Amino acid sequence: MSFTPEIQEKIEQILAAYPVFQYGFLDVDEIEFKEEVRRICLQECPRYNTSWSCPPAVGTVEECQKRCAAYEKILVFTTLAEVSDVSNMNETLATRKEHEGVVHALCEDLSAQGMGFLALSSDSCALCSHCAWPEGPCRHPEAMLPCIESYGILVTAAAEKLSMDFFYDGRTVVWYGILFLSSDTGKGLV
Ligand code: SF4
Repeated sequence: MSFTPEIQEKIEQILAAYPVFQYGFLDVDEIEFKEEVRRICLQECPRYNTSWSCPPAVGTVEECQKRCAAYEKILVFTTLAEVSDVSNMNETLATRKEHEGVVHALCEDLSAQGMGFLALSSDSCALCSHCAWPEGPCRHPEAMLPCIESYGILVTAAAEKLSMDFFYDGRTVVWYGILFLSSDTGKGLV
């Protein structure tokens, strides 16, 4: 079975039940996987090498790209949160839980529809207070969402392709989610 307009319509009906601000669909080959995004993880992110949802645990960029190539379509979507100052990281990160709830709920709905998917989300996994990486296996592999950038994907480039809105007002937080979709069943969260 291929990714038909009817399948897309069904997904849009699911999305309508959630506080999704904007969304769009891309073909898998429209998203670029870049080593330089991973270099930013290495050089600038304190979560590098601390989580199963981040590099190097997610594998090389090439391995991530190969994993994603097995899917037919990409859903990129955003949720919004309002804070008093986006540069206040504690305040900004506190709004992330609601976004993650939306991503998980979408995943459950897609599973119920028999869709295969691979979900990526903003920032690294925060399900456990201390990640099991590297001492032991992930405690919740079925719920863990790898970080979008960990796959070498520059999500703002995908958002630009879809003419999504950016906010520079210092108060609006934009959270991104990416779902690689397949009409085949049997492809779940990696
Ligand atoms: S579920 Fe826990 S162990 Fe797995 S990636 Fe998230 S924080 Fe780490």
